[in-house]
Amino acid sequence: MNKVVHVCTGTCKAEISEEQYNDGLTQCGAERCTMQGHNFEKRMRCGSCNQLYKEGETHTHEKDKSLLGKIFRFFLK
Ligand SMILES: [Zn+2]
Ligand SMILES: [Zn+2]
Repeated sequence: MNKVVHVCTGTCKAEISEEQYNDGLTQCGAERCTMQGHNFEKRMRCGSCNQLYKEGETHTHEKDKSLLGKIFRFFLK
């Protein structure tokens, strides 16, 4: 299943859950992160391939015919 996450687009690459975000964790607080003090960006995480994509973006696996992709999905089942 796909889930909503919030990510820092700076150098720390933090990823927080929707629950944490709703609890008030809406900005990156990591020291030395290039996006410290900036709001996290909303993303969707695909439950099948574990990739992040933007909300509203079409995310499919139809083009993914690589062997690696098949193996990866096999292990996730
Ligand atoms: Zn950050
Ligand atoms: Zn996917």
